Amino acid sequence: MLTEELLHEALEYGKVFVQNGQTAQYIPELRHVNKYYLGICAMTLDGQIYEAGDTHIPFTIQSISKMVSLLLAIQDCGMEFLFHDKVGSEPTGDPFNSIVKLETKSRPFNPFINAGAITVASCIQGKDADEKFERFLTFTRRLCDNQDISLNQEVYESEKLTGDRNRALAYYLKASGILEGNVEECLDFYFKMCSVSATAYDIAHMSLILANHGIDPKSGEELIPQKYAKAVRALMLTCGMYDGSGEFAMTVGFPAKSGVGGGIAVPLVGRMGIGVFGPALDEKGNSAGGIKMLEYLSKKLNYSLF
Ligand code: GLU
Repeated sequence: MLTEELLHEALEYGKVFVQNGQTAQYIPELRHVNKYYLGICAMTLDGQIYEAGDTHIPFTIQSISKMVSLLLAIQDCGMEFLFHDKVGSEPTGDPFNSIVKLETKSRPFNPFINAGAITVASCIQGKDADEKFERFLTFTRRLCDNQDISLNQEVYESEKLTGDRNRALAYYLKASGILEGNVEECLDFYFKMCSVSATAYDIAHMSLILANHGIDPKSGEELIPQKYAKAVRALMLTCGMYDGSGEFAMTVGFPAKSGVGGGIAVPLVGRMGIGVFGPALDEKGNSAGGIKMLEYLSKKLNYSLF
């Protein structure tokens, strides 16, 4: 049974694995984050909230933002167009920022690798990057039920200044006819969405909405159409933990989306939403302690999908 004590046990177990991880080094501003932060929050459909550790420390959501932007793009362009013309829905087995398959495939493999997410970002409607970002922020705030969620300006500037690999991906996509519109505007929006700051508590709420088929259990309001929530959860399971998704499915068995800021969003359908924060990353870019906390919970609760 899920209890706060169980989360504390998971936290103690996860802490053991933090030592060997390190914060994302390729984004200068993330190098300075205290790698020993670790926290987990679970919100159940019937309104219970359980927390352990650093659940109210803000961190940049990074790749977790790719779920939100995907939902906006689906809303703007439709699933058929997006998944037919722009991105695929297959795992790559390559690192999240890999460029290698772009030349051999007509479009990025999935919306969660950087090439796919940059493409998806270009599909969101708005007259400029600012308007797109306003829409993104409004939707993120609703999903997290927190109106204070905002941009971390330092991380945004740091990513924009050093994001040459993402710039290379975007220009290549433009040259291939996949990415349309102004490349720098698209990248500006992409760097901003990755640099939005939230807590494990906020991410638990976002996950709760996905776990409840897109409906806010408190208000009964539908924030995400059911079939889109289902598609996003499926992509989380197959592609959400980068090139560690297969192993994560075997050892934990939850749909999950991680970000290099150390966050992990976990929607457990019909049960709860979980938000994790632990900025010490393993070699694949996933929260080292976070994965272990989830592994502990999965075993103790016997909640693996498999
Ligand atoms: N902003 C990060 C990047 O583009 C996001 C990567 C991630 O969290 O996986 O490299």
